[in-house]
Parts: sequence; structure tokens; C-alpha cells
Amino acid sequence: MALAASIESSGKVVIRRVGLMLSGDIDQPILDADTVVVEDGLIRAVGAEKDCDTAGAHRVIDCRGTAIAPGLIDSHTHPVFGDWTPRQSQLGWIDACMHGGVTTMISAGEVHLPGRPKDILGVKALAITAQRAFDGMRAAGVGGGVKVLAGAPVVEKGMVEQDFAEMASAGVRLLGEIGLGSVKAGNEAAVMVAWARKHGIQSTIHTGGPSIPGSGLIDEHVVLEADADVIGHVNGGHTSLSYRSVCMLCERSTRALEIVHNGNERIAILTARHAVELKCPHRVILGTDAPAGSGVQPLGILRLIALIASMAEIPAEIVFGFATGNTARMRSLSQGLIEVGRPADLVFLDKAQHSAGRDLLNSVQLGDIPGVGMVMIDGIVRCQRSRNTPPASEVPIIIEGSTLRG
Ligand SMILES: [Zn+2]
Repeated sequence: MALAASIESSGKVVIRRVGLMLSGDIDQPILDADTVVVEDGLIRAVGAEKDCDTAGAHRVIDCRGTAIAPGLIDSHTHPVFGDWTPRQSQLGWIDACMHGGVTTMISAGEVHLPGRPKDILGVKALAITAQRAFDGMRAAGVGGGVKVLAGAPVVEKGMVEQDFAEMASAGVRLLGEIGLGSVKAGNEAAVMVAWARKHGIQSTIHTGGPSIPGSGLIDEHVVLEADADVIGHVNGGHTSLSYRSVCMLCERSTRALEIVHNGNERIAILTARHAVELKCPHRVILGTDAPAGSGVQPLGILRLIALIASMAEIPAEIVFGFATGNTARMRSLSQGLIEVGRPADLVFLDKAQHSAGRDLLNSVQLGDIPGVGMVMIDGIVRCQRSRNTPPASEVPIIIEGSTLRG
């Protein structure tokens, strides 16, 4: 199914005087470049300004020495419909997260919908409707233009392979968290994960204690047997398995290790460190698991980056990669890396005013969250100085094409 095209087109945009370019790729986290050229929403060139074709831009963004990174990807969210969540009766939460640098959100199931259907036809209908609605919402620029990849059905007992084939042909690409429905046994989950994978649908499993009354424990044995693509909230959502059990998941599986903000922070730190020690840092991806009982945290991904960089003592530029390029690769997304041909989804950052850090990366290493100075999605500026982060020390400025020609 073709994605709905964005209504606006960015035209040619030149981003210059970038002081620090974070690639999103943890193998080469910092690029030796000061300029990005965007055409019609895609990155066309990355390099030194003198080597880039910057002529004819209808908009120039002067970064004034600040940093850019790929837009942050929240690997674990629970959207319902529109920019509204019934979990804490809140409007505008997706737009608020965009002000926290998030440009893509992945649904782990539209489970907070009041009266969510649990019969198989209803499960499929909701998934298809949610996929369509969020795709259309992005095209209309609602929710800050954030790319909400939704339509993530929670599997129920009795589903057969044909159900997965039907959903896949209708555009469903994700499963909601396995374990939030009636399928909770490892052997039952494994069959459905395999059907989903065969039909191009990615799967995520709930890990740890029950999240809300009615959900159950999913322990390490169930997670390993189910073999879903993403070990969802490996640090619990909110209640974590023991560190010993989480180590078993790191060591015996090769699937994505998803660390969330609304989980156990101690296990988040220990898991990130263990993944580095095991030489599998590429598996670490970040999410919020919001909206949740703890609320909606528009700065959740930035807070998680600062937490892991400072407390697990992992270089900040690598941890930015956990929230961008790693997720892109583990989930086969086109966005999440600063690379020619990728969508121009970018967050513009600087150290927060009066941070004790020397610069952006050092401030994050010290545990401070950075200031967002601008967010761009598909080459279109969605916000300038964030209303939610502490103020960035310096922010980029926009120079419009008419000024350029004049
Ligand atoms: Zn969960």
C-alpha cells in the first residue's frame, strides 16, 4: 500500500555551519561535515560546504555552530487516535514530544482505546483503521507532523495465518505487544510471531511484570520461546525482571533490546552497559512506553539518552545512535540516519543554557538534557526553539529564499 504523500514539499533546503553532526550510526557516530543539502524531503548531500551544491536553495538554515542529529525515534508508544490519549486524558501529546526532538513514534499497540475490541475481526479492523488514520494524520501535519507508525494489533487466541496475511496485505506492518492480549504462552506466541514475520509484520513482546490490572507476567523463558523481533521494554514496563533474567535475554537472544523511559531505571542502565560489554550495542533501541501510568513525557527520549550516557558511562554520541540509527536498522526504517537518500528528519541541538558541560556532548555526559533549537521532518521545519526543553544556548536561524536572492 502506498503511503499518503505529505501535502507540503520542502523544496531545496541548505543546512550550513553545523558545529557537530551526529550520524545516528554508532560505528561512526560523528561525521566530518558542516553542511546538509535537502531536496524534496530527502538528504541529497552531506559534507563540507565548499563541496556541496548549495545554489538555488529556497531556504537556508544557519546552524550557528550548533549540532544536528537524526530525529529521535520512540520505539515504544501507545497512541490511540489523533493527538489525544485517553490514558491520562491528554491532548497534544504527540506535538509535545516533537518539541522533545521525536520525529517518529512506533506503536506497540493501540491498547488504551476505551472498549478496545478483542474478537479477531475487531482486532484486525482496529489495526487497519489505526494504520490508515495515523498515516493520514501525518500527511495533514497533525501531531507536529510526527511519523506515527501505528496499527499494531494485539494478538488474541484463535488467530490463524490467514489473519496475518490479510492484515499485511492491508498495510499492517507491526504487532502490538504480545502478552497484552490472551496469547501469553511462549509456544502460542512463537507460532504467531513466525506467521507475522513470514508476512512482513514486525513483532514486539511485553517483558516483565503486568503493566496494568489485567495484563500478566512475561518472563525470560516466554520471551526467548516467542522470539519476537523486539524484546519490548526489556527493563520492564514498569516492573522489570531480575537483572539476572535480563542478562539471559541479552546473552541468549539476538533480537532488539528495547530500553524504555517508563521502566526500571536501574535495569535500563545495567542493560545498556551489559550490551556494550557483550559487544552487541547495535541491539539497543530506546522508547518511552508512553502514554503510561507515569504520564506522558515529551522529553522522555532525551531524558533516557542523558540517563544512559551519564549513568552507564557510554559516550553520548553512541547513545544518540541507540535512539536513531539502531532503531532504523533493527526496524528497517528509512529514517534515523544522516545519510544521502534518507528522509531529512533532523533535530537541532545545543547544550542547555547554564549547563555545567563544555559543549552539547559533554553536557549530556554529565546528565543534562540538551536544548532543542529546531525540529525538521521531511525537510519541513516543524518547530523552532522548543517550548519543552530547557533553552538551548544557541539556536539555528532560517534565511528565506527571497532574502537569498535579494
Ligand atoms: Zn508492555
